[in-house]
Amino acid sequence: MAIIDLRSDTVTLPTPGMREAMLAAELGDDVYGEDPTVNRLEQYLAAELGFAAALFVPTGTMSNLLGLMAHCERGDEYIVGQQAHTYKYEGGGAAVLGSIQPQPVEVEADGSLDLARVEAAIKPDDFHFARTRLMALENTMQGKVLPLAYLQAARELTQRHGLALHLDGARLYNAAVRLGVPARQITRHFDSVSVCLSKGLGAPVGSVLCGSGELIGKARRLRKMLGGGMRQAGVLAAAGLYALQHQVARLAEDHANAERLGAALAELGYDVEPVQSNMVYVQLGERAAELKAFMAERGIAVTAAPRLRLVTHLDVSGEAIEQVIQAFAAFRR
Ligand SMILES: *Cc1c(COP(=O)(O)O)cnc(C)c1O
Repeated sequence: MAIIDLRSDTVTLPTPGMREAMLAAELGDDVYGEDPTVNRLEQYLAAELGFAAALFVPTGTMSNLLGLMAHCERGDEYIVGQQAHTYKYEGGGAAVLGSIQPQPVEVEADGSLDLARVEAAIKPDDFHFARTRLMALENTMQGKVLPLAYLQAARELTQRHGLALHLDGARLYNAAVRLGVPARQITRHFDSVSVCLSKGLGAPVGSVLCGSGELIGKARRLRKMLGGGMRQAGVLAAAGLYALQHQVARLAEDHANAERLGAALAELGYDVEPVQSNMVYVQLGERAAELKAFMAERGIAVTAAPRLRLVTHLDVSGEAIEQVIQAFAAFRR
């Protein structure tokens, strides 16, 4: 029995077309800048998102860290969501490895940071304080899509205060597909953007950081320092390029599946948050561990979280979603 894995969109396996692209990739040593496929991926994404340069890295965690470290010096500060990946889920890397102080701000229900709160958190130029240098947003944020008008307002705020603006766009393309706009409509508001190829896009490994030539130059030096300089990495970059060229539009199917799942669970009486992209959040409270075991017996993998996150992706079909709905109906009884 094939497992239906709803824990994350990181669990996808390379499709046959992607594996072929990986096999056929032209390779070289990327630390020497000589891997044609890595170079093609970097140029492709930089051009598509409207940046001068880009850098292929092993993980989104490294990509975000390089972005933060390229913008901020030791003793600088970035303003970030209390629940954001770049603050909460990256092992404290900005502080540990970058000597950058985070200034967390509570995330609003719609996934945004309240701009008045952000403005109040910006420190005056005074030697008592860390220097506020950067604001970091996440889109999608726990499945929620930030409105374009909000991004514009965030850009204006950061410009007014001389801050840079970074986007953790691990799921940038989910946001773009949901809004029905080219991804560049989102990224044009930012100084740097990190994109994960290994989430819903379906590549096995890899993220890309985009920014100015100067910023990416700094990030390239830091990537080497952190041990992220890979050699014949084109075999992985080929998967990323394939994902960007063939597996973006299909994110709409994941969104439709998530919407169907969310609506069905609400109908069954579950407490479901509104669905905007490929994530369905369900309040389970004390029944979380019980549900996990119940689902495992039926070949469905979920985490045991009281606020359960169900994630759709390219290895979860519409049929699988119907099976999941039936299992939730049985659990409810
Ligand atoms: C997955 C993810 C990342 C990067 O994670 P890695 O596992 O290091 O690739 C960054 N931000 C968000 C929002 C993510 O979901």
